[in-house]
Amino acid sequence: MAADGGAEALALWIGRAREITAFTGAGISRECGIPDFRSKDSAWKRYPPMPLGDFLAGEENQCEAWLRKFAMDDLYAGAKPGRVHLALAGLMSAGKLNSIITQNIDGLHTDAGAPLGKIIELHGNGRAALCLTCGVRLELRPIRERFETTGRAPRCLCGGIVKSATISFGQKMPPVEMRQARDASLACDLFIALGSSLVVYPAAGFPLMARENGARLVIVNNEATPLDALADLTVRGDAGALMAPFISGAV
Ligand code: NAD
Repeated sequence: MAADGGAEALALWIGRAREITAFTGAGISRECGIPDFRSKDSAWKRYPPMPLGDFLAGEENQCEAWLRKFAMDDLYAGAKPGRVHLALAGLMSAGKLNSIITQNIDGLHTDAGAPLGKIIELHGNGRAALCLTCGVRLELRPIRERFETTGRAPRCLCGGIVKSATISFGQKMPPVEMRQARDASLACDLFIALGSSLVVYPAAGFPLMARENGARLVIVNNEATPLDALADLTVRGDAGALMAPFISGAV
């Protein structure tokens, strides 16, 4: 049965934890100007991500997907890390937080200073591209320049289709990141989910896995989630304001 708590309870639980794993969703990047999928005014509704099956259906769809992706990139190009990103980086340097499992593709945990090896990007990263045939990782800038000059969908040197390095609907989850997320979920004694609706699977399976393994589960979100009843503590409110006290890494 979840206890409803506030900032004090959150501080107490973080202070007592031996090893924390954090799990973040689109809600923590809203204060950075990047909307989540569910906001009414969300630009994701204007430029919806294309499911993998549609993307693979032909070059016309691939061009449309790249147009939408670059339009979103332009809207959020100047986004800076928010208070949750900074607080998690602070808790990491204080040795309290071991891993960040994120569903976000915006790269803001890296910008906040969390070490790369400690950030598990379950849904990929929108700042790079990948060849779907040979798997090579490619820089976005030359891809965009060529796309805007030729109007043709980008292709790899091997001839393969190039796609943003994010996991689209219908695409297989990345096996390395899934294994890392599992390990991080099983290693912690406190698992904190922040700014996630916890409805997107398999990602939302990790809080459950941690809880079943004996970790305490804390959910920080500004609305109810389907996992609240299983949490040991739910903190309803603005995740940025709630995590701001940890930016210095002090607990
Ligand atoms: P979601 O949109 O399903 O849920 C976000 C949750 O955060 C909602 O419950 C919302 O009410 C809550 N929220 C919003 N602002 C908040 C705040 N200030 N404080 C506390 N809670 C707040 O997002 P999700 O759970 O991450 O899953 C949706 C999918 O969207 C993921 O797969 C993710 O890859 C993708 N996505 C990523 C980004 C990004 O990278 N920033 C943006 C949009 C969508």
